[in-house]
Amino acid sequence: MNKLRTKVFFILLPLAASILGFGYAYYQSRETLTIDHIFRSSQLSALLGANEISHYIEGRFTEFDRLSSAMSLCQEPSISWAEVSSNALSFSRGFSALMISDLSGRVQNFHLSSNKSNRYILRQDLRNARVLPAETIELLNGAFEEWQVNYPRNIALEQSTLKKLNELQEHGEANSQANRDLSNQLSRLREKRNLPKQVVNLASSEVVSRLGLIFDNETYFFSRPLIDCNKELIGYYTAVLDRTLIEDQLFDIKRSLTESGLEYVDVFVVRNDSLASLSRSNYMRLDQLKRNGLNEVIEPVFREDLGGIMINQPIGINIKQHLVFHDNINLKNGKHSVTLVVFVSKQEIDKQNQTLIREISVYLALAALLFVGLISYLSHYIASPITDLRRRISTLSRMGKADTKFSNRDDEIGDLFQAFSDMASKIKQKEMQLTRLAREDPLTGVLNRRALVDGAEEIRRLASSCYICMMDLDHFKQINDQCGHSVGDDVLVAFCDAVAKETRESDMFGRLGGEEFALLLPNTTLHEAAQIAERIRVRVERDLAEKLCSSHTLPVTVSMGLVSWPNEKAFTQVLDHADKLLYKAKQSGRNQIVAE
Ligand code: GH3
Ligand code: MG
Ligand code: MG
Repeated sequence: MNKLRTKVFFILLPLAASILGFGYAYYQSRETLTIDHIFRSSQLSALLGANEISHYIEGRFTEFDRLSSAMSLCQEPSISWAEVSSNALSFSRGFSALMISDLSGRVQNFHLSSNKSNRYILRQDLRNARVLPAETIELLNGAFEEWQVNYPRNIALEQSTLKKLNELQEHGEANSQANRDLSNQLSRLREKRNLPKQVVNLASSEVVSRLGLIFDNETYFFSRPLIDCNKELIGYYTAVLDRTLIEDQLFDIKRSLTESGLEYVDVFVVRNDSLASLSRSNYMRLDQLKRNGLNEVIEPVFREDLGGIMINQPIGINIKQHLVFHDNINLKNGKHSVTLVVFVSKQEIDKQNQTLIREISVYLALAALLFVGLISYLSHYIASPITDLRRRISTLSRMGKADTKFSNRDDEIGDLFQAFSDMASKIKQKEMQLTRLAREDPLTGVLNRRALVDGAEEIRRLASSCYICMMDLDHFKQINDQCGHSVGDDVLVAFCDAVAKETRESDMFGRLGGEEFALLLPNTTLHEAAQIAERIRVRVERDLAEKLCSSHTLPVTVSMGLVSWPNEKAFTQVLDHADKLLYKAKQSGRNQIVAE
């Protein structure tokens, strides 16, 4: 690469650097956007999912109250437990099974709901199995005792409320606000009369597996004391939360994330106390989670230890109204609480980055092509013509001539080409002028001595024979003296014209100096040469007198010495010989030719 091309390359280098810079900035901003997208979509999904799950679990409290009313045996004492369970369960869609246990917590009756989730399962025989932990039984007993204490008080309260209501109606205030408040209070008291508080606990996966349900992980047990018509505690009944709907919800969250472009995602639920997972995870290592714990904050956190972005959203359950010993239950970290976890593996970020890198590589490759194209174009358009011009200038200076044909351009480089062509033709012109000046005699325009000497040898080499005729005007000094130097000059010019008229194209004529001349006659015999010389002598004598001034009466004449030029002799030698013959002609009276 020549210097100019290197410069073009370096001039354009900042362009390449800025393209790279833009590419990098684009990559950075897209990466930030990608992570932001992951953060936002997973956080939103976690929040919505946690709300829906908590809503679902809370909905089951009301459903369990309805189920509890159906469990009241006093109405139809003849009906079997199996029928009672089946009736009660038919009220609900959110529970998978209903169990009745005796006072020691052993299962006496087990009834599966007809929910879709319970189809095609093989239930184990749970009779006498202990599915309620002692701790739960203790809570249920407490609930019963509390109810026993409150029952007479509730009845009394119910009666006094009823009395007040009747009084209001007697006073014609049936539609008053106070009347409406009392009516509501009365119906609430009646609802609670037969219902001790419920106990919710998380059933371990071992118990769930023994129940033979389709799901194989932990779920919620909703339990209440079972009371006979004599208000005696005879056992407990427990409804098992159907968690397939929770699983469906987890699946929906995952699907919505997949649809938003995330592939390596886990959505699952963990217990707050043990951090045990209530469902499966594909990408997060649960043992690491157990060791390192959940995020401290609600916002998404990139967890280096877990290898991905984690969002944990507590599933809040408003259990205060429904449960026993609610004061002891810390809603956030209590043992009944669970947390929804959305985890986006680092693989997802890597995958998105790779896609991004591939995309940017295509752009950068296009930019690089553009860059190379631009360099080639500029090299071709600017550097190449200048390099070519430099080469032609160097040829011109070395050889004295150069090619002046250029392609047409209408810009400054075109002007440069034109200037070069003009300069080259001027140089040629000047050179020709100089050559002519170096070869010509300035007064007469015939060859000078040097040109004659140079050309003579060449003519002799090519010719088979050659004659040299040396001429000297006679008494020329007198012409100068009598008519003036300028007339002498005119005579010299007229003499040359006269010679030109009598000689051939192939002959060579030149001025040796002063009024002395030499004529070379190639391929000529002595006879022919003598004839030419004679014609010249005659013409000079006849024509040149008219150039003279009036005071000069004699004609202009010329004396000549004519010799043959043998091959082996040098021009100057032959010239000396001719000079000698010329001298003889002068001696013999001038205006004559002496030949040899
Ligand atoms: P000869 O017949 O013996 O040759 O006598 P000449 O007078 O011609 O010879 P000479 O050598 O004595 O004189 C030559 C003269 O030619 C002298 C010089 O002044 C003149 N002369 C030489 N060159 C030029 C010139 O260019 N122009 C003019 N006008 N005169 C010239
Ligand atoms: Mg002379
Ligand atoms: Mg003379």
